[in-house]
Amino acid sequence: MEKSYLIKPMLDEDYPVIDYGKGVYLFDMEGKKYLDAASGAVTANIGHGAAEIMEAMQEQAKKVSFVYRSQFTSGAAEKLAQKIAALLPGDLNWSFFVNSGSEATETAMKMAIQYWQEKGIHTKTKVLSRWVSYHGITLGALSMSGHTGRRARFVPLLEDFPVINPPYCYRCPYNLTAPTCNYLCARELNQAIERIGAEKIAAFIAEPVIGASGGAITPPKDYFKTIKEICDAHDILFIADEVMTGSGRTGTMLASEHWDIIPDIVALGKGLGAGYAPIAAAVASEKVMEPILAGSKSVMSGHTLSANPQSCAVALAVLEYLEKNEIMREVENKGEYLRNELEKLIAQYSFVGDVRGKGLLLGIEFVEDRITKTPFPRHALVTQQMVSLAKEKGLIVYPAGAGIDGVNGDSIIISPPLTITTNEMEELIDLLAATFEAFSNQIN
Ligand code: PLP
Repeated sequence: MEKSYLIKPMLDEDYPVIDYGKGVYLFDMEGKKYLDAASGAVTANIGHGAAEIMEAMQEQAKKVSFVYRSQFTSGAAEKLAQKIAALLPGDLNWSFFVNSGSEATETAMKMAIQYWQEKGIHTKTKVLSRWVSYHGITLGALSMSGHTGRRARFVPLLEDFPVINPPYCYRCPYNLTAPTCNYLCARELNQAIERIGAEKIAAFIAEPVIGASGGAITPPKDYFKTIKEICDAHDILFIADEVMTGSGRTGTMLASEHWDIIPDIVALGKGLGAGYAPIAAAVASEKVMEPILAGSKSVMSGHTLSANPQSCAVALAVLEYLEKNEIMREVENKGEYLRNELEKLIAQYSFVGDVRGKGLLLGIEFVEDRITKTPFPRHALVTQQMVSLAKEKGLIVYPAGAGIDGVNGDSIIISPPLTITTNEMEELIDLLAATFEAFSNQIN
């Protein structure tokens, strides 16, 4: 191949060149087939090559691909905002469209700060968060991210927004079990608020299921109810980062719905465009928009390609596809099936420490010693090994962090397209078992 000038994640590695995708499969130029059990980065929610989406793209391209949001709106953007308002719970009605999940969480952060300013309160500018979290790579989003690895190079530029432990029941810092733990990890937020001062805090942000930094860490039943009560009691907005968990990934439009909470602002991304176009959104409730509509009448954010008609048409087609094919209805059953199969692997392989997750967002944490839950040493690069052994076998899994600091641990995420069939799930499990077998041979 000719010299590549593309900056890839690892500059000294060769990456297969993908030729095309169909359903849950990707095919490279050499003809090798991959079962995409990660949906890329938990993104290709309706699989690859859906004809309806291509038609919607073409229809929009024939009309207009770009208008600038300061000059015009478009039918596609208006319809998408209406569809999101109809599908999201409560009065989460107002969409601000951006191009990536990082921009969505950062816009959500700015909306929260602006909400208080419009009410005449200018001191509330911090957006607290949890350790073992990821909200994006831009500096504002990284400030909120409790991901030590991704923060490391930029620490001097970042705010110290992560302040509390995650609801990591497998490695509970209190050595307790829910619900008798009384959700102490959520109640840490009370202490953080007391220390920092509620008058300085605009919002608290959390991923309903912790993805990239934790390997699908799923909270116990009343965790989010407790968090929301604490936020409400202190006049702090609650932002749900549903970039990974939203758009049907866990069987409901928002994962927040599983725990009966309605956030004040939601960030959507990844599955919204399902990989067919770069699009994400910060969606605000009526409560958040009220003082802005009565005040400056403008949310202070925006990008040249915000509300791009082409991307909006794609996202609208993706949401219509989900609805028309009733895809969300089957997600929890499929997740249950996969989870049961994954749990069988615990019995077979001692390095499988924990299987967790919600719907089709499942995580597997690897440990050197299952009894003591001791992680593998860092130099063993277990997550990377699992990912590359799987890739060799034609299976794509998503690497994630683990461990109480999100760094000293190994996990992978299994998050196939929501459209996966039973036969394809069986194939996924076979390929994963073959990967574990290869890893087992390597360490024994
Ligand atoms: N928020 C969450 C929960 C994510 O998982 C991610 C990406 O992994 C982001 C935000 C950032 O999204 P993007 O990579 O599209 O900027």
